Amino acid sequence: MSDVIVVSQKPSDAGELIGLARTMGNPVIVAFQDSAERVEELLGYGHRVYRVKSSRPEVLAKAVNILYEEFKPKLILGPNTRNVKDAMSVVAGLHDIHMAPDVVEVRGEVDGVIYKRGFMSERVTITVKVPYPTIILANPRIAEPAPKGGVGELKELSFDSMGVKVVEVKPKELSGINLEAAEVVVGVGRGFKAKDDLRMAFELAKLLGGQVGGTRPIAADLKWLPEDAWIGISGKRIAPKLYIAIGVSGAPQHMSGVAGSKIIVAVNKDKAAPIIKQSDYGVVADLYKFIPTLIEVLKRKRGASHST
Ligand SMILES: Cc1cc2nc3c(=O)[nH]c(=O)nc-3n(C[C@H](O)[C@H](O)[C@H](O)COP(=O)(O)OP(=O)(O)OC[C@H]3O[C@@H](n4cnc5c(N)ncnc54)[C@H](O)[C@@H]3O)c2cc1C
Repeated sequence: MSDVIVVSQKPSDAGELIGLARTMGNPVIVAFQDSAERVEELLGYGHRVYRVKSSRPEVLAKAVNILYEEFKPKLILGPNTRNVKDAMSVVAGLHDIHMAPDVVEVRGEVDGVIYKRGFMSERVTITVKVPYPTIILANPRIAEPAPKGGVGELKELSFDSMGVKVVEVKPKELSGINLEAAEVVVGVGRGFKAKDDLRMAFELAKLLGGQVGGTRPIAADLKWLPEDAWIGISGKRIAPKLYIAIGVSGAPQHMSGVAGSKIIVAVNKDKAAPIIKQSDYGVVADLYKFIPTLIEVLKRKRGASHST
């Protein structure tokens, strides 16, 4: 008997989703677009794994639909990715059930779930209670990853391509950075006057063991950063422990991408910049003075701790 279906699309999502699912019932896992090694890894959680050998959302929708009919689960849990969203909206429509994307917190009750998600480009957070059955698509860091243990059972689900043929695959030029997994992200905005000045942000990120991302003007318009470093509603949604926004004004379209951050620090020379109110620590300062000083202090501290 399984009352939670967990959809897993990439290596980083499974542990947390399974951890969350176990708080609400007995999960089965649908491994979508997965390699044999990944399926082996998923089996290590000790649950039944259904492998769907396709990257097409309509195929995932068909697979989850079949499992939904079989198990009549109270909950479908998945990562908040584009493909999973496309697929789960089909399942929600077919069964007339609620689907919540962008969820940052969720807990199961006897008669339904209570979840939190950003709303109106993350300007507000809404708390919603919905009855079972329902579909929850979670942002990263939704729960503690499940411990592994046991041996799961593998089932293959295969369908024909449903008439869909990928005509061309054209890789984008990406840097390969993984902002979604980073624990520290340094975000850069138009407060930087030249591409070269971003060196400060990279140096700070290196000192803190983090990665550099940016606002849309920096990544998409000026192209000072690769496209996969673009943070926001139309870019990456990040959930680091620490987000340091430098020379970023705090437009809603940017802030919706950083809502999952545990701590937000903003450095802006304008005390009326919207980000100052939306951050945990707002530093009103000229970045060209503050960031080099911060880097010096961090280097000095590091030097001191190395010499003791
Ligand atoms: C449909 C749509 C989708 C969008 N999607 C996204 C998205 O996904 N991500 C995104 O980021 N944006 C997105 N945008 C754009 C968004 O609305 C903002 O225009 C953008 O986020 C602003 O970028 P910024 O903060 O770098 O620049 P600005 O708004 O120009 O802010 C620059 C900030 O730097 C400060 N500053 C200047 N000089 C210094 C200095 N020397 N020291 C310290 N501070 C300084 C200024 O006070 C200012 O607050 C979208 C817009 C639309 C319409």
